[in-house]
Amino acid sequence: LTLLGIESSCDDTAAAVVRSGPAGTQILSSVVAGQTELHADFGGVVPEIAARAHAEKVDLCVEEALSQAGLPLGALDAIAVTAGPGLIGGVLSGVMCARGLAAGAGLPLIAVNHLAGHALTPRLTDGIAFPYLMLLVSGGHCQFLAVEEVDRFTRLGGTIDDAPGEAFDKTAKLLGLPQPGGPAVEAEAATGDPLRFAFPRPLLDRPGCDLSFSGLKTALLRARNTLVAEQGGITRQDRADLCAGFQAAVRDVLAEKSRRALARYLALRPPQPVFALAGGVAANRAIRAALEGLCQGHGARFIAPPLALCTDNAAMIAWAGLEQIRAGIPPAPFAARPRWPLDERSPALIGSGR
Ligand code: ATP
Ligand code: FE
Repeated sequence: LTLLGIESSCDDTAAAVVRSGPAGTQILSSVVAGQTELHADFGGVVPEIAARAHAEKVDLCVEEALSQAGLPLGALDAIAVTAGPGLIGGVLSGVMCARGLAAGAGLPLIAVNHLAGHALTPRLTDGIAFPYLMLLVSGGHCQFLAVEEVDRFTRLGGTIDDAPGEAFDKTAKLLGLPQPGGPAVEAEAATGDPLRFAFPRPLLDRPGCDLSFSGLKTALLRARNTLVAEQGGITRQDRADLCAGFQAAVRDVLAEKSRRALARYLALRPPQPVFALAGGVAANRAIRAALEGLCQGHGARFIAPPLALCTDNAAMIAWAGLEQIRAGIPPAPFAARPRWPLDERSPALIGSGR
């Protein structure tokens, strides 16, 4: 089976060709066109600008993906496209492009949930079996999922306010570091003292796997403002220490909530316990190391896909489409959706306790 995937739900326009057969799975091409510079002046993704950029770039991305794969449209078995959740203008750009191509070439069109794309990625990269536990941690999301089938996910907990990636980005902005904030803050943190500022570890005092990051953001703002009031500005070392303290707090919260999610998951006695990461924040070495250590201590296999497949891309969308075909789920008519929770039609095998 050979599929074209198209992704346009946030601020990356992407197209990819994935082939899977008896000889294994190959990503024949994966093209990602980002928009960071378009939104740089606004301190966040502007939906109208994103939608326009997707509409302008999506055809080019598809052409490039097909040409890198060395395949004409006619060589494909199907097209998979992100149908949500996300900024609706962007999602529609991708869906309209995909509809046109599918109709023109007489190919089936498969609607993919963007989050399912992230959640199924460890099966593309590492070929693992269902079920497994996943922490999806990105610029817009933070949730623990028991991934049970191609279309069955049980949510064990998630953020009640901001996503960690967003907190990294806002921290960078506040401290005058470039976007995306995650890598910049991580680099600064390497030379900082994580103990100088006592940042909170939100929600650790409460049971369960839900997380919160907005209080941490406020604490960082307050610490910086205090320094500015006292010294008239912040030094390089202050900045490094703030980044180190912030990163340590995020790491600790993710590690403790992951410990609880893993304990709950292991109590169900999965045959081969696996804990997998997805999302851009999975690139963070301090966070990765903490979660890897946690898994070692609990006899679970730890999987963190390569960064290019952790952040938004279309290979994961093509793969999720392929998984649907293999699971015998027929392509059905669909509409683009701004909101599309993953556990919507999940007759949970795994009791969520709610
Ligand atoms: P979503 O996938 O939820 O729609 P998104 O597209 O913003 O959101 P991703 O592309 O998965 O998310 O990841 C981008 C986020 O990952 C950014 O917020 C970025 O700051 C963060 N990030 C990237 N590298 C690092 C790092 N080394 N440490 C921490 N965060 C990082
Ligand atoms: Fe994403």
